[in-house]
Amino acid sequence: MFDGKLIVFSAPSGSGKTTLVRHLLKQKDLNLDFSISATSRAPRENERDGIDYYFISTEEFKKRIKQGDFLEWEEVYRDNFYGTLKREVERIWNLGKHVIFDIDVVGGLDIKHIYPERTLAVFVKPPNIEELKIRLKKRGTESEDRINMRIAKASVELATAPQFDHVIVNEDLDTALGEAEDLVRDFIR
Ligand code: 5GP
Repeated sequence: MFDGKLIVFSAPSGSGKTTLVRHLLKQKDLNLDFSISATSRAPRENERDGIDYYFISTEEFKKRIKQGDFLEWEEVYRDNFYGTLKREVERIWNLGKHVIFDIDVVGGLDIKHIYPERTLAVFVKPPNIEELKIRLKKRGTESEDRINMRIAKASVELATAPQFDHVIVNEDLDTALGEAEDLVRDFIR
């Protein structure tokens, strides 16, 4: 029987984990599919429903929490709920693929605790907080206020790194991409 795995990439916002996850998804031999999270935040200009996220209202989100539809969920920023639907993981395993997650630190550790053996939990570290600030500003998707909120959260998140199976320091992107590929290839073998 297919032994579906869970690959978690968690990091402070702006650490480059999304780039790593996208790169891994392109490696067809890894047999990965992206876990599309549900969120109550508004879509950014380039984001599409059902591809980047399942965009739902806060009300709908709360209803689904009550129904027990989530494997894990969190109010990552105030009034911005994010969560992994149980159905999403089943969908991917049913395709005969491993699930890869781009989620926050708390959610990532929740998944590791729910499925300790089946999960590879990787923490992606920015070289330092200054660099994180620069990257978030460059990305230009968030207001100054929101950037500061994300930076404040990052310091707390960095402290959780030792709880992960592996830490990748994203200083040089190519090196980080290679490390990520090796880790995943090793784990699913
Ligand atoms: P963004 O608003 O930049 O897309 O995401 C904000 C944060 O929420 C990121 O750290 C992202 O990884 C995290 N996130 C996205 N989906 C989920 C999820 O399903 N669960 C949890 N716990 N965090 C998530």
